[in-house]
Amino acid sequence: MLAAPLRSELAAVLGGERLIDDPMSLALYASDETPRACTPAAVAFPMSHAEVAALVRIAHREGLPLVPRGAGSGNVGGALPAPGSLVVSFECMQRVLEFRPEDRYIVVEPGVITEEIDRIARSAGLMYAPDPGSGAYCRIGGNLAMNAAGPRCVKYGATRDHVLGLRAVTGDGREIRAGSRTSKYATGYDLTHLLVGSEGTLALITEATLRLVPAMEQIVTLRLCFASNRAACEAVQRVMRQPVLPCALEFMDRRSIEALREYGGAEHLPPGTEAVLMLEADGDADEAPRRLAALEAACRGAGLIEAQSGFSAAEIASLWTARKSLSHAVKKIAPLKINEDVVVPVSRLAELVDAIDALGHRHDLPLVTFGHAGNGNLHVNLMVHPDDAGEMARAAACRRALIETVLALSGSLSGEHGIGSEKRRFVELEIDPASLDLMHQLKAVFDPRGILNPGKKLPDPAGL
Ligand SMILES: Cc1cc2nc3c(=O)[nH]c(=O)nc-3n(C[C@H](O)[C@H](O)[C@H](O)COP(=O)(O)OP(=O)(O)OC[C@H]3O[C@@H](n4cnc5c(N)ncnc54)[C@H](O)[C@@H]3O)c2cc1C
Repeated sequence: MLAAPLRSELAAVLGGERLIDDPMSLALYASDETPRACTPAAVAFPMSHAEVAALVRIAHREGLPLVPRGAGSGNVGGALPAPGSLVVSFECMQRVLEFRPEDRYIVVEPGVITEEIDRIARSAGLMYAPDPGSGAYCRIGGNLAMNAAGPRCVKYGATRDHVLGLRAVTGDGREIRAGSRTSKYATGYDLTHLLVGSEGTLALITEATLRLVPAMEQIVTLRLCFASNRAACEAVQRVMRQPVLPCALEFMDRRSIEALREYGGAEHLPPGTEAVLMLEADGDADEAPRRLAALEAACRGAGLIEAQSGFSAAEIASLWTARKSLSHAVKKIAPLKINEDVVVPVSRLAELVDAIDALGHRHDLPLVTFGHAGNGNLHVNLMVHPDDAGEMARAAACRRALIETVLALSGSLSGEHGIGSEKRRFVELEIDPASLDLMHQLKAVFDPRGILNPGKKLPDPAGL
């Protein structure tokens, strides 16, 4: 509960009804996609940059923790409230402020739904390239804070590669404009790209200028079935070595195919399939099929059982059936999925997949692995029963061993989901002490009282 005078002051900034603290409403904002919850003291729904700035100044004065929130679809506890915190939900800031096709940019508030930005861009023959799987409901502020990505990012890059500028409010209430509306920019330090991926710990983002690229006329699809994980990973390496970039290169491992066989979705996969790659190529009506043919040629090699191309909408949908059925099938293996989002250089992908197999055996756990193989980014899902203490202990040991393996392969803890509260204890394994110290100093400059999204992104500084 907020103290009454503080509550009144915040409510006055928000016009009364946009500050809520009744228990039923608070319960809706107590968690994100992680299986954890913490009820906040209140939730604020600002409608403008000015209201955000006013809220932050009061919170800074009072030492009130603020937890920014988009749609709450994050799966690392990034939007998980801190005890006694004020959640700042951006769902009422949904305006498109400017759309300039000739400059190839769009300016939006943080509450705009990601796919809506792409939809608007396409009305002028452009597209917003980052395409997280949650794009139909996640918000651009959350994407910016997490540097979200998706299948298209193998060709077009992640959110960070599509941001020209930001407007934001730092933890002590300073209002900043970073970057510009130009496609080239070389003035000052690059605060834009520092704030992208900062998970709401440095500033609250209130406006973003996003880069748009030409939309491709056609997308065509190739589904490849392999006799082993290794054969599929070797094909990925051959694809990434040649000059034609796919606009999606997705992988499903042997354990994923087993889940599909058991729970539905593998009906159209040929016998002997142990791993599947889904590739897409884009371009104009001539170019796209030509590119797909080049990708298929690169994939041909030992262990390829079947290659099927799709050109019409119906063919493409049918080829994606197995991949689209996977989430449903995986949920049936065990009630809880601990999702790791590791990334390695593509050249180390086969080693990683072999190591994941070995870890599953060693810790006696089903590890279901799929993801954006063209970026070396795999989602490793440890399927567990949360009431089984022995299994949970094995999962904890397995997670740590997985992360150590990934780091030994020159990889990183997270390719796109971020760190949040769930992974911050592993950050010291990856980032050297001098860099971590600089990061803590940056945090103190942007947010001297540590009110912005406490307990996220970085481990606590030594001595705390
Ligand atoms: C089914 C499913 C599929 C997914 N697929 C993908 C995928 O393909 N790729 C991918 O990258 N992720 C994926 N995700 C994860 C998630 O959707 C992304 O991390 C997304 O960017 C979160 O957006 P959100 O609006 O839900 O943000 P939230 O979860 O509400 O918040 C995420 C983080 O952003 C911060 N934040 C939110 N708004 C602001 C703001 N205005 N200023 C500063 N900080 C802010 C929050 O504090 C939090 O730290 C998936 C999740 C699900 C459930």
